[in-house]
Amino acid sequence: MNNILYKRNIITATSIVVVLFVSVILSVYRFLNMNFKIYDNDIRLIVSRQKNEIEKQIYNKGHYPYLVFGLDGRVLYNGGVFEYKVGEMLNTQEMLQTDKSFSINNKNKIKESFVLEQNGKVNGFVVFLIPEKDVLIESNLTRVINIFFPMILGIFICISIVVARTLYFNRRILTPLKEISSSTKGIIAGNYDLEVIRTYEKQIGENEIGDLTYSFELMRDELKSKQIREEVLKKSQQELISCISHDLKTPISTIKAYSEGLRDGIARTPKAQEDYVNIIISKTDLLIDMINELLEYSNAELNQLDINIKEVYFYEYFIPLMEELEVFVKQKNIDFDYEVNTADMLVNIDKRRITEVLYNLVENSIKYMKDSRGIIIIEAERQNGKVLIKVKDNGIGISPDDIPYVFDKFYRAEKSRSSSIPGSGLGLSICKYIIEEHGGEIYCKSRHNKGCEFGFSLG
Ligand code: ADP
Repeated sequence: MNNILYKRNIITATSIVVVLFVSVILSVYRFLNMNFKIYDNDIRLIVSRQKNEIEKQIYNKGHYPYLVFGLDGRVLYNGGVFEYKVGEMLNTQEMLQTDKSFSINNKNKIKESFVLEQNGKVNGFVVFLIPEKDVLIESNLTRVINIFFPMILGIFICISIVVARTLYFNRRILTPLKEISSSTKGIIAGNYDLEVIRTYEKQIGENEIGDLTYSFELMRDELKSKQIREEVLKKSQQELISCISHDLKTPISTIKAYSEGLRDGIARTPKAQEDYVNIIISKTDLLIDMINELLEYSNAELNQLDINIKEVYFYEYFIPLMEELEVFVKQKNIDFDYEVNTADMLVNIDKRRITEVLYNLVENSIKYMKDSRGIIIIEAERQNGKVLIKVKDNGIGISPDDIPYVFDKFYRAEKSRSSSIPGSGLGLSICKYIIEEHGGEIYCKSRHNKGCEFGFSLG
C-alpha cells in the first residue's frame, strides 16, 4: 500500500531526530574542546587604556589596582595592591612571576605584568591584580554561545520543520477534511452543491486526503446527477399519469356517448345502429391496445417481457418489414428510404419484438419530426459479425444533456416535455430492454435540431 502521509510523517520525524542528534553531538564536541583558560590577549585588552596612561607616567587609580616599579626594582607607584611603599625596593623577578604563595594569598585574582616603554626604551614594569571572574566572563561568554550554537540552530531547524509540517497538515489535511465533513452534512440535508475545494484537484495524488477528496467529489457529482434525474423522472411519471388519464378518457367518453345513443334510440336504422356498434368496438380495441401497451411496459419493468429468439434469414425478415414501414411512413407525408449494406446472414431474433423496436423508433422519428419536409432512413450493415441497424431522421434532435437519459424509463427530453407531443417516456426503455435481451446494444446520437440516429446490433 502506498501510504504517502505515513511516509511523510516518518521522514519528518527522522529529520527532527537527525537534526537534534547532529546538533547535540556538535555542541558536545565543542564543549569537550572548550578551553577555559585565561587568554592574555583578553587581559591586555581590558587594561590597555590604563597601561597607556601608566606608560605616560599618569598614575590614576583606574579600574584595576596596580603597582609600578622601575628596572632596578624601585617602587614608583602603588595602587594599594601589594605591601610596598613608593621608593621601596622589591625583588623584580619575584614580582613578575606568579608563585604558589601568591596564589594562596590572592585567591581568584590574576597577576598580570607588563613591560613599560618610553620612546622605545624599556623603563619599568606594571603589575595588575585583576579579579579572575572578570576575565573568565569576558573571554568565555562568547565561547559558551559558540558551543551551544549548533544546538540552538538545531532547535530552530526543528521548530521550522514542525511549523512547516503543521501548515501543510492544516492546508492539505484538516481543511479538506473539514470541507468533506460540511459537504457530507449538506448531502444528508439534501444539498449536493457544497464543493470540496476544487483547486485541491491540482494536488491530487499528493496524499491520501487528495485521493479521498477526489473520490468524494466523484460521489457528490454522481449523487447530484442522480438527484436531478430522479426529479425529472418524478415529473415525467406525473406527466405520464395525466397523459394516460387523458388518452383513456377520450375513447371512454366516445363509447359512453354512442352507448347512450343506442339506449336512447338515436340510431334508428339498423345501418346507423351497426355504425354505432362499430365505433364502440373500434374504441374498445383502442383501449385494449393502450392497456396492452401499458401491461407490456410494466412487464418489461419487471423483466417479464416474453421474448422468443429464433434463427431467421435476415433478408427474409428485414426487406418485407422495410416495405411495410415505407407505406406506413409515407402515409404520414414523410419520405422514407432504406439501405441494406450486408450480405444475407442468419440472425437470432424474436421477430415480433425487433419489429416492435423498429416501429417504436420510426414512430418516434415521425412524432419528433420538424414542420419542414421530413425524411427517415433505415440502414443495415455488417459490423463485427453482427448486423447493425440504424434509424436516422431529420427531426428536432435531442440535446447532448438529454442523450444519456433517453433510454431511462419515463424520461422525456426537454423539448418533447415542453411541447404538446404526447408520450410516456417508456418506448425507448422497452427498446433497450428488448435489444439487451438479444445480447445487443442500442445507442443514440444526435445534434440538436439536426435530427437523430438510433442504432442497435443483432447477432
Ligand atoms: P416518448 O413516449 O416520450 O416518445 P420514448 O422513450 O420513446 O418516450 O422517448 C424518450 C424521449 O426521447 C422522448 O420523449 C423524446 O424526447 C426523445 N426522443 C426519442 N426519439 C426521438 C427522435 N427521433 N427525435 C427527437 N427526440 C426523440
